[in-house]
Amino acid sequence: MKALLPALALILLAPTVSAAPPSPQALMATAAKLRDQALTGDNTAYATVESLTTEVGQRIAGSPAAKRAADWGVARMKALGFENVHIEPFPITAWSRGAESAEVVAPFPQKLSITGLGGSVPTPAGGVEAEAVIFPTYRALLDAPMGSLTGKIAVVTQAMIKFQGGDDYGTLNANRRAGPSEAAKRGAVAYLLRSLSTDDTRLPHTGFMNYAPDAPKIPAAALSTPDGALLDNMAKRGKPIRIRLLLYSSSFPAEGFTVSGEIKGREKPDEMLVIGGHLDSWDLGTGAIDDAAGIAITTAAAKLVADNGRPRRTIRVYMFGAEEIAASNIAFAAMHQAESAKMVVGAEADFGGDKVLRVNLPPGAAETTFGKDLADVLSPILIRPGPPALNAGDDFNNLKGVPFFGLRQDGNRYFDLHHSADDTLDKIDPAQLNHAVAAWAATLYMIAESDVDFRATMPK
Ligand SMILES: [Zn+2]
Repeated sequence: MKALLPALALILLAPTVSAAPPSPQALMATAAKLRDQALTGDNTAYATVESLTTEVGQRIAGSPAAKRAADWGVARMKALGFENVHIEPFPITAWSRGAESAEVVAPFPQKLSITGLGGSVPTPAGGVEAEAVIFPTYRALLDAPMGSLTGKIAVVTQAMIKFQGGDDYGTLNANRRAGPSEAAKRGAVAYLLRSLSTDDTRLPHTGFMNYAPDAPKIPAAALSTPDGALLDNMAKRGKPIRIRLLLYSSSFPAEGFTVSGEIKGREKPDEMLVIGGHLDSWDLGTGAIDDAAGIAITTAAAKLVADNGRPRRTIRVYMFGAEEIAASNIAFAAMHQAESAKMVVGAEADFGGDKVLRVNLPPGAAETTFGKDLADVLSPILIRPGPPALNAGDDFNNLKGVPFFGLRQDGNRYFDLHHSADDTLDKIDPAQLNHAVAAWAATLYMIAESDVDFRATMPK
């Protein structure tokens, strides 16, 4: 009996021998099971959105609410069974909205519905009042000669078009991001744009902007879409339009907080799937679709995979802390570029809570047996392979050398709500949210449980 003990101890202490991945048939069968569990499951994702929007609400980076959101994220991840849950702080320049208003002073005095753009400087106390120059397109503003807007308020009224993929946001994004500095270079004292929005409510949509280093910093705000149309109609009358704009915003140094948690891999813990959504939101709504939904989808999908048993590879989930002001991407790459070789794949859910339409794998992967097997698992829930994923969402865009995938969601409603006061819990459709979880869970499981190597299948 005594002689047996050392031998037994040796067996117990011996490291686990790496086993082969399940057969493709077994892999697909379990992925399909997880997919179906998500569709009919316990609504973990919806409960997560409900909890974050109710218990924290708006959580713009650098605000006390953003810190409360990070503490919420830690508690949530621990409650869902994640390991190594911690906060990664990083320095940011925070922005805070103050009182804001705008009105047409002449020729037809009336109020306008506006909201300041994130990052905008304030107006002087009492506001700025000037003649407005209305541009029907952003290109028309760029075509205006230098000096032609001296002392004026530049207004771009170009409407955003509703496409299912949300593509027009990319087309018009420079209008918001760069428009203020382009107007300032031409002499403007303030900048207004028709919101990058596909809705028809009088709620304006905010969003981040960057000042160019070689232009004066001028205050910038978004008009609601009906107010953009209103100014178009006024411009047709041919009389000078005078506008007064008041923005009492401020910028200050602060801290951002990204929350990290893991499901440790049972056989290949050093091979990681790195996914997430962003925890920060704009300050107008409660950040339900942008991006409590992404937080909810990724954590619920990883939990579903873990509930089936520890996967072979590690799944690491991030709640990024400052996506809207383009800061958590820089901090993430600075902190984690050194371990990028361990990252099997990266992906961010940041396109609302509606159903998934396409699975976009790293270049070359859709044509492999693995890619075709995954497509077969997702086909019954009406998801088709899409174009190769060349990025993974804003928070991954500073990270180099990592293959990315994307589960592209239906964007029909997204830009009706995005960055507006209407981004609230009631816009979340639990069935569609579960559909997104189903797609993520099946995809995560297939990648985490197999030996698929996306770097090997990428065209050189
Ligand atoms: Zn977002």
